Amino acid sequence: MALHAGWRADPSTGSVAVPIHQTTSYQFRDTDHASALFALQEAGNIYTRIMNPTTDVLEKRVAALDGGVAGLAVASGQASSALALQTLAKAGDNVVSSTALYGGTWNLFANTLRDQGIDVRFVDPADPENFRRASDDRTRAYYAETLPNPKLEVFPIAEVASIGRSLGIPLIMDNTAAPLLCRPLDHGAAVVVYSATKYLGGHGTSIGGVIVDGGNFDWEAAGDRQPALNSPDPSYHGTAWTQAVKGLGPVAYIMRARTVLLRDLGAAISPFNAFQILQGVETLALRMPRHCENAARVATWLAERAGVSRVIYPSQQSGEARKRAERYLKGGYGGLVGFELAGGVESGRKFIDSLKLLYHVANIGDARSLAIHPASTTHSQLDAEAQLATGVSPGYVRLSIGLEHIDDILADLDQALTVAGA
Ligand code: PLP
Repeated sequence: MALHAGWRADPSTGSVAVPIHQTTSYQFRDTDHASALFALQEAGNIYTRIMNPTTDVLEKRVAALDGGVAGLAVASGQASSALALQTLAKAGDNVVSSTALYGGTWNLFANTLRDQGIDVRFVDPADPENFRRASDDRTRAYYAETLPNPKLEVFPIAEVASIGRSLGIPLIMDNTAAPLLCRPLDHGAAVVVYSATKYLGGHGTSIGGVIVDGGNFDWEAAGDRQPALNSPDPSYHGTAWTQAVKGLGPVAYIMRARTVLLRDLGAAISPFNAFQILQGVETLALRMPRHCENAARVATWLAERAGVSRVIYPSQQSGEARKRAERYLKGGYGGLVGFELAGGVESGRKFIDSLKLLYHVANIGDARSLAIHPASTTHSQLDAEAQLATGVSPGYVRLSIGLEHIDDILADLDQALTVAGA
């Protein structure tokens, strides 16, 4: 599917590679055709802010990999989480989210969405029932990450999805760190979002995001709980989305995300970036096992090092966290490894500054190995309490292990740890 889903060859040129359709607009056949497209009576291209043939292949391919019915590619992972929620929630509504989140998502939820009137309530995912306890009549969605860094404790997807389903609340999963290893829709999630910037693209070249609609959530049955999809939408001919798209399959959610939120907020991905991410997806099934294998070796190696006080990686966990890793991740525990140095912040800084092979960058999921000190960078806009809630202690170092030979990775870690006194 990573190589073939959504595309065979270009019908007019025979091109096997997906062409980059670098166009803003599409010539309508005639006025009837144009109005049919705008009225959603006929599928077709209107304008690249809302759809593009290159992007369309990426959307179909990622949706196929996740077992979803349709995808929507957007400008970044941030745009995918924002649009995924804004498709369902407006001012006065609320969302219940796991505390274990990427720092950028935390900021979006704790500040920007709140400023816009969407109250995001954070709960500890260790107890799935926390999601039910935080819900009320205006709760429109649950949100979490499959393998949240920095804690790297796998989220209880099926448990929270089933609480949500009993209340008419869909679970939206950010699966950025675990593509292919986990298919959240198989466990009851309704929507999956990605920062395609990471493993999907895989080479650190292009920012992008994808939303996948599972088509497995009964929005109509949820009734008043999901007014965005069940009541007339004045911005689209007074359409109630569950009714308007009945003939097209269970795509009300993704249709509203595209034709209302993406149309209005404009976070479109460029066709070139969609092409780059597609190139990455073609080798995802080869890269993920290698990321996992290298990362597992690094975790075991770090655990034996005297100056390392703690290693954060699913293979090092026990109890419920380990059980969830075994249940939800197949084929490996991912490419991210965290560790704490006994020497605290100072030795963390020395370690990062001494790396020669690993890059010191904010990204994850690159083919190259990467390192960062989250407390002073990715999570620095959070206060100390919020940092700890997301799992960032002052001496925490995050590694995103790449595809290099394991000996080269370990040699660099070894020399940098030695300089850091570990
Ligand atoms: N979700 C996760 C888990 C991430 O790690 C990131 C980025 O680091 C994002 C979302 C945001 O993605 P982007 O940087 O593509 O906007």
